[in-house]
Amino acid sequence: MDPSAPDVIRYVATAPAAPTVALTFDDGPNPPDTVALLDLLAREGVRAVFCLVGVQVEQHPDLVRRVVDDGHVLANHSWQHDDLAELPAAAVRADLQRTLDAIHAVVPGVPVPFFRAPYGRWGRTVDVAASLGMRSLEWQLAVEDWDPAPPADVLVERLGAVEPGGVVLLHDGGGDRSATVEAVRRVVPALRAAGWTFTVPT
Ligand SMILES: [Zn+2]
Repeated sequence: MDPSAPDVIRYVATAPAAPTVALTFDDGPNPPDTVALLDLLAREGVRAVFCLVGVQVEQHPDLVRRVVDDGHVLANHSWQHDDLAELPAAAVRADLQRTLDAIHAVVPGVPVPFFRAPYGRWGRTVDVAASLGMRSLEWQLAVEDWDPAPPADVLVERLGAVEPGGVVLLHDGGGDRSATVEAVRRVVPALRAAGWTFTVPT
């Protein structure tokens, strides 16, 4: 392993006969796409990781409560999606703490075991996140569902590149994510029929 590579999670536990996949959703909560996504995941019995942005948490506290009530796992995705890579550690810490405080103002005491850096630009954030009790969660596969968001057909095709144990980066916020929700709607039953299990990192 490259010693200069940041210590980030890209895979979850898996087995050849029973491949797993971990879905992660960034930049929300963001109605109506997050609502549609939560409805879908509940119907399918799939748990996922929601990487929350602080300003979105402040605007949509009821959706944060629902994410938690539905059994999903939270990640801190910064206060307002600034690139934190070049900031001094104290500034990174202030940003991540402000975001944690916003989450805990809505759902007191809820675990926030993970951090994901905006734009995947880690810089000093990995160490700072660790000092706040969060492990850094990257991804095996990014389907690039951000602006301009490709149609669901394209996203479904790109999701075919998931590897056993792969963490998959998707977005429920940052723009119109209806194509992402539609792609997830199609891919979940297809993967399940092929023997895959949906899980979350631990
Ligand atoms: Zn993001």
